[in-house]
Amino acid sequence: MEEIACSLCKCANLVSFREATQHLNLLTPFEIKRCKKCDFIFMSPRPDASERSALFSGSVPEALKPYSYEEANYGAVTKGRLDFFRKRARYLASHLGGESTHLRFLDIGASSGYMVQAALELGMKAEGVEPGMSGISAAQERGITLIQGTAELLPFADNYFDIVHSHHVFEHVADPMVSAKEAFRVLKPGGVILIEVPNQFDNIRFWRDKIFNRIHQRKRDIRSIHHLSFFSRKAMRDLMRKAGFKEIVVTTKYTIKPTGLRALAGYLTMIAGTLYLGGERVIVNAKK
Ligand SMILES: [Zn+2]
Repeated sequence: MEEIACSLCKCANLVSFREATQHLNLLTPFEIKRCKKCDFIFMSPRPDASERSALFSGSVPEALKPYSYEEANYGAVTKGRLDFFRKRARYLASHLGGESTHLRFLDIGASSGYMVQAALELGMKAEGVEPGMSGISAAQERGITLIQGTAELLPFADNYFDIVHSHHVFEHVADPMVSAKEAFRVLKPGGVILIEVPNQFDNIRFWRDKIFNRIHQRKRDIRSIHHLSFFSRKAMRDLMRKAGFKEIVVTTKYTIKPTGLRALAGYLTMIAGTLYLGGERVIVNAKK
C-alpha cells in the first residue's frame, strides 16, 4: 500500500471521508480522504502500483484478497457503448468544423478500442493508449491496434492531436494532475478535449443518503478499490484549469432511471440535483 498527497494541489493536509469509506466497504488501511485545501477526494492509503497492476492482470496480491470477489471485465462493459461512442466522435468533430477525415484523435484509457473504432469509422487518424493487455488483445482481434501505456506518459509529440477523449478513466489513473497535463501537452492549440468520469460522492443522491444517515454499503469486491480519485464538478474544473485548458464547461448527467414506488421521489431528487449538486457523472469539455 501507499499513502499519497493531493494530486491537485500537492497538499498533505487531509481529513477522513468516513461515509465514502463506509460506502465502498473498504478495510483498514485503505481509506477515502478529502483534501482540506482544495476538497479533492481520493483514496489514501491505497494499493500501490505493483498491487494495482497485479490486480488488473488477474492475479490478486495477498493484501487485496478481501477484494478478489469478482474480476473486473472492462471490455464487456465498453462493447455496448459503440453507438454512444459514434455519436460522441461526431459531436467532437463538430467542434472542429465537422469534416473529420483530417483529424487526429486520441482515446486515453482505450479499453477494448471501441471509441478508437468509432473515430476510425469517421475517417479520423485515431490512436488509443491502454495499460491493460486484455483490452489491447480484444481490440487486436477486431483489427484495432492500441498502444500499451498510461495516461501519465503518453508516447506522442507535443501539439499532435486535434481531439483527446477519455471515458471513465481518470478515476483509475495513479495521478490525475500529471495525466491532465499530459493530455494538454499532446493536444494542439485550439484542439478539443472531453473527459467523462463518475461523480460518486458529490451527487445529490449521496448527499441525500448522508443527510438521512442511510449510506448504502456496496459489496466488497474489486470495484471497492478500483477508483482512486473521485471528481466533483469543482474538482474537475480545478483539474482542467491547473492543467492549462480554457473554455472549460463542466456538466453532469443522470444515468440511473428511477422506477417503482420511489420513482416520484427519485425524479424530484434528480430535479434538485440538476439545480444544485448534480448527477452521478461529470463531463468536461474544454479547449487548449
Ligand atoms: Zn488538494
